Amino acid sequence: MTEIICSPVYVHHKGAVPFLVSATSGTTVPGAFDPLEAIADVCQHHGLWLHVDVAWGGSVLLSQTHRHLLAGIQRADSVAWNPHKLLCTSQQCSALLLRDTSNLLKRCHGSQASYLFQQDKFYHVALDRGDKVVQCGRRVDCLKLWLMWKAQGGQGLQRRVDQAFALAWYLVEELKKREGFELVMEPEFVNVCFWFVPPSLQGKKESPDYSERLSKVAPILKECMVRKGSMMIGYQPHGTWSNFFRMVVANPALTRADMDFLLSQLEQLGQDL
Ligand SMILES: *Cc1c(COP(=O)(O)O)cnc(C)c1O
Repeated sequence: MTEIICSPVYVHHKGAVPFLVSATSGTTVPGAFDPLEAIADVCQHHGLWLHVDVAWGGSVLLSQTHRHLLAGIQRADSVAWNPHKLLCTSQQCSALLLRDTSNLLKRCHGSQASYLFQQDKFYHVALDRGDKVVQCGRRVDCLKLWLMWKAQGGQGLQRRVDQAFALAWYLVEELKKREGFELVMEPEFVNVCFWFVPPSLQGKKESPDYSERLSKVAPILKECMVRKGSMMIGYQPHGTWSNFFRMVVANPALTRADMDFLLSQLEQLGQDL
């Protein structure tokens, strides 16, 4: 949708006028953060709604050390955040937060069903939440976040985020020390994207079938680790990059020893590829 709306050709021929910019804080694969201040300036200048997809990266705000990655987020008109990702609130827990104070959600989604939401009750009906939410008759997912926040405290959640960053950086440092690993890019977040390059492909970057052969490595290793029952790490291609692993360091129970295990395990499973 963004592509269609942003295309100058489309705007020209159909008379369409852009009304919304959707930025991302913490993209799913590389874990990249858009420059929100600069984007917000453009939105402000043109009167555009700024939505920021913080599904993955929003939890970084809980860390005093890393929250600068979302600088400018306070200028967004809406954000969508998934505490069930980096904060590990049990699945599922998603929030749509709006700057709007005019009851926009209720005006757009409220059904005013008289068989459900009686207005002539003995207490103040503003307390009823059923007609104010998108999900209506679904479970109250935010309760899990509230309980977790109460139990862990802001400090506890901050620790969770900071620990994830620290472990991701540890993994990166260790990975650079080993021959068979190559970073796809220096991570901005806790997504560590890398190739495992088996002995038979090391130093062969110039050969014409390098990319094709490298793209077969991750699926085979994934099969090996799943069959062995030792690890689960996702992989994917991205643009012109062939299949690479994406280790997402979010589980607060992970330790440095797990990172070492991960690297050794890949070396072991991939030594004959
Ligand atoms: C996970 C993710 C989503 C999808 O979130 P859902 O709540 O499952 O729809 C959207 N955007 C980003 C950047 C994500 O990482």
